Amino acid sequence: MPPTLQFLGAAKSVTGSKFLLKAGGSEALVDVGLFQGLKDLRKRNWDPLPMDPAKVDGVILTHAHIDHTGGLPRLIKQGYTGPVYCTRASQELLGLLLPDAGHLQEEEARYANKEGFSKHTPALPLYTLEDGEAALRSLVPVDYGKPFKVAPGIEAVFHPSGHILGAAFVETRFEGKRVVFSGDVGGYQNAVMRGPQPLPDGLDAVLVESTYGGRKQDHRPVEEQLLEKMKPCLDRGGVVVIPAFAVGRCTIILYHLRQLQDAGKFPDVPVYLDSPMSTDATEIYCKYGNEHNLRADLLKSSSDCPIRARTTRLVKKAEDSKKLNNQRGPAIIISASGMATSGRITHHLKNRLPDKNNLVLLVGYQAVGTRGRDLLEGKPFVRIHGEQVEVRAEVKAINGLSAHGDSDDIMKWLGSAKVAPKKVFLVHGEDEGLSAMAKRVTDELHVPWHIPDYMETQPL
Ligand SMILES: [Zn+2]
Repeated sequence: MPPTLQFLGAAKSVTGSKFLLKAGGSEALVDVGLFQGLKDLRKRNWDPLPMDPAKVDGVILTHAHIDHTGGLPRLIKQGYTGPVYCTRASQELLGLLLPDAGHLQEEEARYANKEGFSKHTPALPLYTLEDGEAALRSLVPVDYGKPFKVAPGIEAVFHPSGHILGAAFVETRFEGKRVVFSGDVGGYQNAVMRGPQPLPDGLDAVLVESTYGGRKQDHRPVEEQLLEKMKPCLDRGGVVVIPAFAVGRCTIILYHLRQLQDAGKFPDVPVYLDSPMSTDATEIYCKYGNEHNLRADLLKSSSDCPIRARTTRLVKKAEDSKKLNNQRGPAIIISASGMATSGRITHHLKNRLPDKNNLVLLVGYQAVGTRGRDLLEGKPFVRIHGEQVEVRAEVKAINGLSAHGDSDDIMKWLGSAKVAPKKVFLVHGEDEGLSAMAKRVTDELHVPWHIPDYMETQPL
């Protein structure tokens, strides 16, 4: 049997990253992400996997984000007992993220049962906080650059991908072949993270993310954009609500706000970081000081920490988060999730959207079917907790804060190998991004490409 690769997620979508590699008589999964966004996609989280989880020999995680890792507790509940390899920083971030993901699933099920808006009675969580915690025991941390055995006949190496702390692209080696899974790739001009490492030479194939495949980021300085978009709202006493993922995105927003405040260009309005895991994430950035561009000594300072706006207030408890509903502007509230699908951001939006003085600032990719996408597209109403909420607040988006590279960055990365890969699989994108990337791969890299379907299998 020749080695094969089956695309179990992030195939013509940006979530649910999950690839099954069969090689050397073994089975390995690269990423076990949750699907998010459209209901049809989310339903896939409940689909049985096309293999017996108990028979998978090894799992590799490219980085901690839930759309790459959030299916792990379920995989383990379904019988997977083997090791789960990730980088050291990813292991620590997962310590925050997986239990939180379980907690969110439970909250949503509880809420749906209380309000009776679920079609399922009772609504059940995909997994619980306890399952999230249990999954952490399977994690096996590995250093960047050190080859490790995933399963008999399959070896792998992590290389920094510049996306978030701990993020890697993974080079797999089996039966004399080498295939890279990009995970998410960062840009080359990010204030916090360093750019991705070059792609190894002469690969048999690369799976590359195409999130922003159709777009070039606005290269105007991010701080200029932040100021221009937020200042009018703050000046009129409004509240700026920013849906942002607690790890990575929050860090970079606060970094830029701090720079603006230190330069005397931005008002010292309160910035509420409404995330139970926010402080812990900062501590992890401190610990891995050699993996990013920030000064580790300053990260430890309560007054000079570069990833805290001067006026940052940490909101940990749920009841304090609810009290923010009475907070008058000017103020900024940053809360997860980044696509406004779940988490505390949902009650902030419900509370702030009906007031035209407020501003919702979208700072990351908004997948089709998410509330964030509805807002971006200017829908007059969004559904939150089973209710129609009128959108009277302003909605603006900002480019350049993404932890993903734009299409120029991805092409630069794909072209960074001295000997180009033999084939490119375009994944982790929606139609527009995928077809734009495909064109560029043909025109600029002159390499064959393929856009796989969900559940499709390809020989390697
Ligand atoms: Zn990611």
